[in-house]
Amino acid sequence: MGRILLILGILFLAWMGYRFLNNTWSARVKEVEKKAHKKLQEQPKQVQQIKACVYCKTHIPENEGIYEQGQFFCSYQHLDRYLEHK
Ligand SMILES: [Zn+2]
Repeated sequence: MGRILLILGILFLAWMGYRFLNNTWSARVKEVEKKAHKKLQEQPKQVQQIKACVYCKTHIPENEGIYEQGQFFCSYQHLDRYLEHK
């Protein structure tokens, strides 16, 4: 009888340990998912502004163009042409 109780006790402890590990693991997974989700939500704020080239009026992302004297250009070619025709 004592042996059965001991075995049941060990099984119970093993089950509790398994549940604890499982909970810790899923909590960690949830945390990682939350962080990933947060990152995704934060990204739209970092989206590049679309600007129009002063010379050709083409709209391109701000980081792909050039700023010169407060004006925005799609390429150095248009920057040169704009300054030539100024
Ligand atoms: Zn241009």
